[in-house]
Amino acid sequence: MTNLTPKVSIIGAGSVGMRYAYALIMKGLVRELVIVDLDKKRLEGEVMDLSHGAPYISPVEIRAGDYSDIKNSDLVVVTAGKKQKTGQSRLELIKDNAELFKTMIPEIVRQAPAAIILIVTNPVDILSFVAYKVSGKPAHEILGSGTVLDTARLRFLLADNCNIDPRNIHGYILGEHGDSEFAAWSTAMIGGVLLKNYCPTCDHFKTCKRETVLANIFNEVKDSAYEIIERKGETSYGIGLALVRITRAILNNENSVLPVSSLANGYLGIEDVYLSLPSIVNKTGIKQVLSVELSAQEEEAFRNSASTLKKIISEIGF
Ligand code: NAD
Repeated sequence: MTNLTPKVSIIGAGSVGMRYAYALIMKGLVRELVIVDLDKKRLEGEVMDLSHGAPYISPVEIRAGDYSDIKNSDLVVVTAGKKQKTGQSRLELIKDNAELFKTMIPEIVRQAPAAIILIVTNPVDILSFVAYKVSGKPAHEILGSGTVLDTARLRFLLADNCNIDPRNIHGYILGEHGDSEFAAWSTAMIGGVLLKNYCPTCDHFKTCKRETVLANIFNEVKDSAYEIIERKGETSYGIGLALVRITRAILNNENSVLPVSSLANGYLGIEDVYLSLPSIVNKTGIKQVLSVELSAQEEEAFRNSASTLKKIISEIGF
């Protein structure tokens, strides 16, 4: 068997897994890519299709495999999950996916014990916690994609509204990746200037209706997934690119600050739950979770996210 590095394995060749795979090879970040899926025939088709671009990208070996092929992976990305059946409640679906993780995650760890595991399957915070619990690995080696995508949406929308390059906008969606998430506006910055200080200097300040604009941007972020799913059935490109960003931080040991989902470490007295805070990400996974200074209202929203997630965790028996 070849043993090329860096090696990434993707579990789940659905829309998200394949968009991620495509973006990953386009970026030239990996030498070996293994993709695993229950649906072997469709997986083979996907891998044949993807491999045919070989002359036009950096060298990469792409294989349709099973769990034994993920050995020596530097990173395993989990996008596999069951779909909601007709009449099934959200909680039942979560229980089903938690059951799936009870067998899938230990198998990943058995085959690739040194790999960092990145969870994407929703509800990502709950399933990252489940993965941590059943993996036997240290928490810093298991992370969830968290609010990295939601944060990208926030930066895109703010950039669009303020006519500024999104790469120069720093602001985060934190907490749960889901309904209880919140925008940490008090920490948002444009080129190192706090947003609240930048706004009065902007040409549009007098006509902008700032509070309404910010509320609308947050609502658009929060409803993005619903709006996209309503139009095209799934979200996949944005998350694919967000996953490549996290992958780059891990494989290149970048120490990048990203709002991935991690085990709460006592910040605001919260423990025993996975949720998003800006965190330093490198080849060890999560190097450090930052204790951001939030406004009182944002702190309350963070606590609310934690209790929302903890309630579900106890309902599914973890
Ligand atoms: P999908 O149904 O297209 O793909 C899921 C794939 O998993 C399917 O190909 C299926 O065959 C496979 N699968 C199921 N059980 C498996 C198992 N035991 N082993 C191997 N493969 C298995 O779904 P999708 O649109 O690709 O979405 C995947 C997940 O990502 C969903 O849970 C979705 O909610 C989530 N998602 C998360 C974010 C985020 O920001 N965290 C964003 C978008 C989507």
